[in-house]
Amino acid sequence: MTVAAGQRAAVIDGKAIAAKLRGEVATAALELRGRGVNPTLAVVLVGEDPASAVYVKSKAKAAREANVDVRDHKLPATTSQAELMALVETLNADPIVDGILVQLPLPKHLDSEAVIRALDPAKDVDGLHPLSLGYLAGGRPTFVPCTPKGCMRLLREAGAELAGARAIVLGRSVLVGKPIALLLANANATVTMCHSKTRDLADEVRRADVVVAAIGRPEMVRGDWIKDGAFVLDVGINRLDSGKLVGDVEFAGASERARAITPVPGGVGPMTIACLLENTVEASRRRRLSA
Ligand code: NDP
Repeated sequence: MTVAAGQRAAVIDGKAIAAKLRGEVATAALELRGRGVNPTLAVVLVGEDPASAVYVKSKAKAAREANVDVRDHKLPATTSQAELMALVETLNADPIVDGILVQLPLPKHLDSEAVIRALDPAKDVDGLHPLSLGYLAGGRPTFVPCTPKGCMRLLREAGAELAGARAIVLGRSVLVGKPIALLLANANATVTMCHSKTRDLADEVRRADVVVAAIGRPEMVRGDWIKDGAFVLDVGINRLDSGKLVGDVEFAGASERARAITPVPGGVGPMTIACLLENTVEASRRRRLSA
């Protein structure tokens, strides 16, 4: 895992890899349709958060292009917990619906953990139900959260050898850091999970063959922390005052040392929706063809 002096890292093209994955999903969905099963994703959006609205719109577009049907449920910001729980119950019971995505964050007065717990685990295509996370921790994943799943695909496509590699995950959220750490451990990497209380982050990063940064701190991981030949996945998305989007890793410096690195934007980001669609088609196959 070394690069010659002066050689720059390969840039892992998340857009191209996500397009390839969406193509695979479209083929699998078409095959299901040929057997009379139309994979269907229900998307629940509560309130007017503009970022969430944009994200939901792009999910719907990508789904249609991948032969996955979408049912949009747009609820007002004033929706009560009881109303939202009632919708989840309806979607759980609807035989047409294969996957349910509740767009997070929910408005503050709603308890998102209770909503996620109420999902039918067989339709938990976001992989955030405690049962899905428990199966992942047990090494027998059912539905894997989409961004971590996308990261693993990127590492595979980049040719990273994970067995025996030292991997470091920066961040320990339930959405990103923890599932990635579990997936890497399941792939036989030796994993260190770091967070805001980690004593010497630079020292931890310097030893790692695989670095996954998911902290939401612009360019905090300096290029000279990266070990020669490491694989670097930058999950962070940070908007600077200038309007520019940057990751958690200082890209220019890191690419002088890494063997392969994801850019921001165009790296990890595009994989998330593709993996959501992959989970939806898988949910459809499991629920409707194995019954
Ligand atoms: P959270 O805020 O939930 O978690 C951040 C994690 O980073 C925490 O574990 C926190 O530690 C740790 N952290 C914060 N500051 C430091 C620091 N100075 N040193 C070390 N660790 C630190 O964020 P998410 O996990 O939801 O997201 C992380 C980033 O990934 C964000 O930029 C987000 O926008 C992006 N993201 C990108 C996605 C994509 O599709 N590309 C999808 C989801 C997220 P502690 O636990 O101690 O507080």
